[in-house]
Amino acid sequence: MSITYTFDKLDQIPRTPKRFAVLGYPVRHSLSPPMQEAAFQAAGIDASYVKIEVTPNELPQVVAWLKAQSFDGWNVTLPHKTAMLELVDHLAPSAQSLQAVNTVLQDDGQWIGFNTDGDGWVRAVRDAFGVDVRDLRILILGAGGVGRALALQAASEKCPHLVVVNRTLEKAQALQRDLMQRIAQDKLHGAVDPVRILPWNEDLIDEALQHIDLLVNATSVGLKAYDPPVLNPRLLTPYLMVYDTIYRPAETRLLTAAREAGARTANGLGMLLHQGALSWEIWTGKKAPLGVMRDALNRAAAAEEG
Ligand code: NAP
Repeated sequence: MSITYTFDKLDQIPRTPKRFAVLGYPVRHSLSPPMQEAAFQAAGIDASYVKIEVTPNELPQVVAWLKAQSFDGWNVTLPHKTAMLELVDHLAPSAQSLQAVNTVLQDDGQWIGFNTDGDGWVRAVRDAFGVDVRDLRILILGAGGVGRALALQAASEKCPHLVVVNRTLEKAQALQRDLMQRIAQDKLHGAVDPVRILPWNEDLIDEALQHIDLLVNATSVGLKAYDPPVLNPRLLTPYLMVYDTIYRPAETRLLTAAREAGARTANGLGMLLHQGALSWEIWTGKKAPLGVMRDALNRAAAAEEG
């Protein structure tokens, strides 16, 4: 695993002609460096992409340092995606729309914030299931950072029906107003509401799933080996596509249960790949070598799984 730099070790970061980084806390286990470095190498670009572990308190100073060093760009992961909104000069429509930044580009001394998470997920769903988010009735479990971003993206894509379920109901309700503004009325299907917010109630989820094509787990349930399936397996049917945003472990208990129920399944590695490829394209202006990035990511993920 590559070196993780901290606030006091920034000066040790290699001085390659082009410099990129991922900022997070924690960031030690990020799979982005091997994926991004493989892409730079394949394109013949002399660049480094390093992990920088940054606490929320240190973030403004680290960003000031990256700017002073004229870094070419960086990715932003938990918990800094919202704070980064205030630390760039301009926001691209993607960051404006999701109200979070996961990619920063230097453009002639100006710093522009983008968000590739939403589009990355759309591409991952198309890759995994051969269908477009805009044509799917979707139920998202979780309204944290990722659940919120995916729900806003699904609404921007004008998907015909969207349900968000969250354990803390108030958080999902806060999302509802933003979602309602985005859902176009022309795709309404009969009596089914375009956007529904549900509490975590098994009967209500069961009933809602009758009108759903794609079930997405955007909760953190499943990250730990001993986590139970996030949903009761009896709710899973062969007609569902089930996307788990988690990629470590490669098959959560939700995905195992879904596979056993005959549903089509995919894990979050595709999301990681596509958001990374889109970031790379923003930085280089070139088409990302997707096959190279996918192979590097799969190798790094397999090494981690041990
Ligand atoms: P977050 O902001 O901390 O949100 C966590 C979500 O999980 C909240 O909705 C929370 O509900 C819910 N939750 C936690 N424990 C729960 C439980 N026992 N029962 C029901 N719901 C529970 O985290 P995040 O950043 O959105 O990340 C969510 C997931 O996305 C994680 O699993 C992460 O691994 C994954 N992820 C994937 C990628 C990728 O590229 N594939 C990238 C980033 C993250 P409450 O609101 O009630 O607390």
